[in-house]
Amino acid sequence: MGEGVLKDGIAPGRLSPDQYAVNFADLHPALDRHEALVEADRCYFCFDAPCQNACPTTIDIPLFIREIATDNPLGAAETIFEQNILVGMCARVCPTEQLCEEACVREAAEGKPVKIGQLQRYATDIAMREEAQFFERAAPTGKTVAIVGAGPAGLAAAHRLSLHGHEVVIFDAREKPGGLNEYGIASYKTPNGFAQHEVDYVTAIGGIGIETGKRLGEHFSLADLRAKYDAVFLGMGLGGVNALRAEGEDAPGVDDAINFIAELRQASDLAQLPVGRQVVVIGGGMTAVDAAVQSKLLGAESVTMVYRRGKEQMNASGFEQDLAAARGVTIRHWLAPRRVLTLDGRLTGIELSYMPMHDGALRPTGETTSIACDQVFKAIGQTLATDGEGVALAGGKIEVDAEGHTSIPGVWAGGDCATGGDDLTVTAVAEGRDAAESINRFLAGK
Ligand SMILES: Cc1cc2nc3c(=O)[nH]c(=O)nc-3n(C[C@H](O)[C@H](O)[C@H](O)COP(=O)(O)OP(=O)(O)OC[C@H]3O[C@@H](n4cnc5c(N)ncnc54)[C@H](O)[C@@H]3O)c2cc1C
Ligand code: SF4
Repeated sequence: MGEGVLKDGIAPGRLSPDQYAVNFADLHPALDRHEALVEADRCYFCFDAPCQNACPTTIDIPLFIREIATDNPLGAAETIFEQNILVGMCARVCPTEQLCEEACVREAAEGKPVKIGQLQRYATDIAMREEAQFFERAAPTGKTVAIVGAGPAGLAAAHRLSLHGHEVVIFDAREKPGGLNEYGIASYKTPNGFAQHEVDYVTAIGGIGIETGKRLGEHFSLADLRAKYDAVFLGMGLGGVNALRAEGEDAPGVDDAINFIAELRQASDLAQLPVGRQVVVIGGGMTAVDAAVQSKLLGAESVTMVYRRGKEQMNASGFEQDLAAARGVTIRHWLAPRRVLTLDGRLTGIELSYMPMHDGALRPTGETTSIACDQVFKAIGQTLATDGEGVALAGGKIEVDAEGHTSIPGVWAGGDCATGGDDLTVTAVAEGRDAAESINRFLAGK
């Protein structure tokens, strides 16, 4: 243990430079050619493959694995990109253990699925390294589409619309495109600037302009876009953060996990990034796990995740929970934040209420416990940051039908900001792609 680990309060430089490099290295190093061939050989090339049915972008998995097995990684990459142009990131971040790999017959038979995600990455990394482009734009249609949000949903929609010959402009509020691929996903899942590399790869098809630093609701309105463009796609994700609803949550040292993660992803030197010695993260989803694990990797001495329900109800997958435990994060259940504790304006701990389940509802018993800490991260879910600019909302998201139509004609939505689907990168890609197909049908009849 380095000396810096024991510094009290929120401090930078807890580790040596070498330790930062080791801690934030690629979580799943890429397969080499031999490993990929051996792994591809394990596939049974199933008919009506369950893995393919479990993939939100329905990639032809047996076909691309057969192409890898015959030493044709570029052919495999083309098969994959046809369905999912952002598969480079999906191969790194998809909870495959809940999707294709959970459905793999080898998982059922021997508890060891074919490493589908790793094989996808093998093929598409080669294609991206060689800058191999597989798609050519159709002749220009003269139609224009505005997209709000350059995250996975917006980028997938843009690529498919451009493929059909439409001109696309993406507006994004942030400095860089990529959405949560650039500002959210854990560093160790996507090191070495991969998110920006992927944006370049996707937009290399042409016909896609990206205007950053342009926020819907501030620099332009939905009405402006509808007046200027033939169609609009909203893919602005969930930018707001839920409150803890605990006494004293504005105390210094209580921070949004999302902001911490975004700062971490943008940090040019991790040694400059301050983190607490004793950290508590409130929440049970992927954001909570990422904040907790990365706090530990930055050198926090102790990190505790606190979730108000049980292990089974956590949104973080079993793999993510195991990852947190393996990195030394303690996870405590059935506890909800009650009061942030301070002394002379300094954060000293958090008081928590026991919340057992009674007759299907969480009911505080009145008993409490507390955990000493000098930093608290809030990771209890994100919300839509705009009022939707006139589109109908349902359950706090933009209401869409199966094709992504909103309540306003000519306006589509997809990804995290829209109803339906789970909040995953691959789902956002599928929804962006499918909305683009719907927009294309609409433009053809215009
Ligand atoms: C910390 C964290 C970790 C995650 N880890 C994983 C993971 O490991 N695996 C996984 O599958 N999923 C993960 N997810 C979920 C995944 O990142 C999202 O489901 C996915 O990014 C949604 O894509 P999107 O395009 O809908 O939205 P986003 O990626 O959020 O992109 C929305 C874009 O819209 C822009 N925008 C927002 N408001 C406006 C506005 N008013 N005007 C203009 N632009 C605007 C934003 O700047 C952003 O670029 C994680 C999420 C978080 C928060
Ligand atoms: S289910 Fe498993 S074995 Fe069957 S095609 Fe998919 S990856 Fe191959």
